[in-house]
Amino acid sequence: MNKKTMLKLFKDLNFKRVSGTDGEKRAAEYFKAYIASLGLKSVIETFEVKSGKVKSASLKADGKEIPCRGYRGAKSVKELKAPLYYLRANDAYSLSQCKDKIVIFIGYLGKFRYEDLVKNGALGFISTNGNLNEADRDIDDRELRSYVSEGLELLPGVNINIKDAEKLISSKPKEVCLSLQGETTIDTSYNVVTYIEGESKEEIVITAHYDSVPLSVGIYDNLSGSLALLGIMEELMKTRHHYSLRFVLCGSEERGLLGSKAYIENHSDDLETIRLCVNLDMVGTTLGNVIAVCTTEAKLTISLEYKGFISCYPLSVSQGVYSSDSTPFADKGIPSLSFARIVPNDGLIIHNRYDTLAHMDVDNMFADIAFISSFVKEMADAAYLPVKKAIPDDLKERLDEYNGRKRPEPKVS
Ligand SMILES: [Zn+2]
Repeated sequence: MNKKTMLKLFKDLNFKRVSGTDGEKRAAEYFKAYIASLGLKSVIETFEVKSGKVKSASLKADGKEIPCRGYRGAKSVKELKAPLYYLRANDAYSLSQCKDKIVIFIGYLGKFRYEDLVKNGALGFISTNGNLNEADRDIDDRELRSYVSEGLELLPGVNINIKDAEKLISSKPKEVCLSLQGETTIDTSYNVVTYIEGESKEEIVITAHYDSVPLSVGIYDNLSGSLALLGIMEELMKTRHHYSLRFVLCGSEERGLLGSKAYIENHSDDLETIRLCVNLDMVGTTLGNVIAVCTTEAKLTISLEYKGFISCYPLSVSQGVYSSDSTPFADKGIPSLSFARIVPNDGLIIHNRYDTLAHMDVDNMFADIAFISSFVKEMADAAYLPVKKAIPDDLKERLDEYNGRKRPEPKVS
């Protein structure tokens, strides 16, 4: 891939690629055609995603309308009236105050928070997105994921912008009124899978998600990683390797890693042959340095860090669990790692209108492709891949927490 092609791909795919929409499908077909132009064959694997549609939603505080979007997949309700409670922390006292209230909290609705709300008698919930320092009043389109509500009663909920949340909390309303009308749906989503046969049936899987969230064209998160995956594919297809390679461009990552989870479910018989998963989620920005989060034995982190120094590409390597498509593979006992170029003090430029081409640097894209290609190539050319096919116990515990099987220690949020 050269610079001109890289820029063309960024521009051609500079549209929203939301799970289950035409945008996602269009992107999957574009990738398939591009991969065909390299002389490789890929397959678009479809999978179903349980979802919901919102017909109408409203939130009023003492009769005054607050802009909101209803949660897809949440309970429909007509004029639910209750006092508002701001849940600042998840200690036992704060949680006990949720009973018979409509509860507002800052940020995302995770599995444990939802469980806390239901078990402490909340009647409904209000979550937020956005940043107090940014001018927009965009409201993210959220869903009550089936994984979050599994085994629990459904509650109605809406999402609002954090600026309206601050105003709402400071206005200390006597009562809020929440209405939501919706229905459940089934969406179709797509993984684009390309196989390059090696001498061995055993394989290394390289993943990157290409879907974006509804507020964003998702250039950094994660068109960048998807294009890096294509760059790595082009590098590695030049020679035959000992291990086979499988490249998976995953859909629906932004809805809870659903593409990689579907891949694992649909290929459960082939997981034995996977020796390593290398995931790319957010690379190639102007600012920031690269990290690699390894859900593997420590030896890999040390050798990768040394490789970085030797290659004049210092990167920060750690053992841990990264919230991306490597994690469902790690959860099946497959050593997995994710590469990301992290912009300092950001946490902000993703999942909103600010994640655009303006933040990208094509030279850094190629630097990231070169290093990660060289790493994958070394692994793929090894006569015997030394990475132990087992996840260390402390990381298994982190996977249990990440996957909602074990509650992390309570912390103030
Ligand atoms: Zn991402």
